[in-house]
Amino acid sequence: MLDINTLLLDFRITSYCNLDCDLCFRNPGIADQSTESALKVLDKMYQVGFRRVGFTGGEPTTRKDFLVLIEHAKKLGFMTYLSTVGHRFIMDHERLNGVLDWVGMPIDGIEKQTNCDIRSDKMGNQHRVIKDILTWLSQTNNTINIKLTTVVSQTNAHQISDIVRWVNSFPYKIQSWRFYQFCPLGVGKEKRDKLEIDTDLFISTMKQTKNEFPDLPLSWATFEERDKANIVMEPNFDVIIPDGENYTYLCNMEKDSPEQIIHHIFGQPEIMQKCENNRFWLDEMEFVS
Ligand code: SF4
Repeated sequence: MLDINTLLLDFRITSYCNLDCDLCFRNPGIADQSTESALKVLDKMYQVGFRRVGFTGGEPTTRKDFLVLIEHAKKLGFMTYLSTVGHRFIMDHERLNGVLDWVGMPIDGIEKQTNCDIRSDKMGNQHRVIKDILTWLSQTNNTINIKLTTVVSQTNAHQISDIVRWVNSFPYKIQSWRFYQFCPLGVGKEKRDKLEIDTDLFISTMKQTKNEFPDLPLSWATFEERDKANIVMEPNFDVIIPDGENYTYLCNMEKDSPEQIIHHIFGQPEIMQKCENNRFWLDEMEFVS
């Protein structure tokens, strides 16, 4: 069973992002806290017993100190994960290599139109970003595990097989690829008419894709499987959990005592089981650095 050592807590170090994706499930408008406060909260998380931290957002790389936070977490002894669009990844790779265990980056289409439809015009060339990274990685001394993420919606469900074939044609082989049924949460709630996808269609699309590419590390999660399946810490250190189409508050990492934090997060077996199922891809390949 998942416990405090193995739970991956997603730390939204900022709620800021200017990429305007229609599918976004962040809660915008929460102010960033200072570097000093964020470092102290990482210290507290470690003291409480957490050992896995994911740096997410918003877009976490918009924070000037995001590398400092990751370096500090690694120094403390955390398994570190970064969820980013990857636009700075090659530029930051030298500092990240050795302190970052996993990076997760999105690819939702291999055509500009699909990327614009599901995300935004600013993300129209995201497939080229991924192509450049995977091409570059094949010639680089890299110790960071690469995970791709794809949000499956009405817009791209019929293109999933083509997307996987395209990525698989590059020489660098990724370590994990997670496909998520679109969730009407946060900003994305307003775009549900355009993006929502029937669960049966999502599952049949994914089974078909897995049959076509049995050797690739593909896995998926429905909206229901993701519900209550990851613990998130907002930039103000409120710890929340996706709950239906909203988030439920659990505790505050800065203000609450270690006992209260543990009670509110780990006192609910249903949540722990769902978090464990959602993070299985981490189990066998946790540390590389
Ligand atoms: S989905 Fe990610 S990249 Fe897009 S607006 Fe939200 S935080 Fe930014």
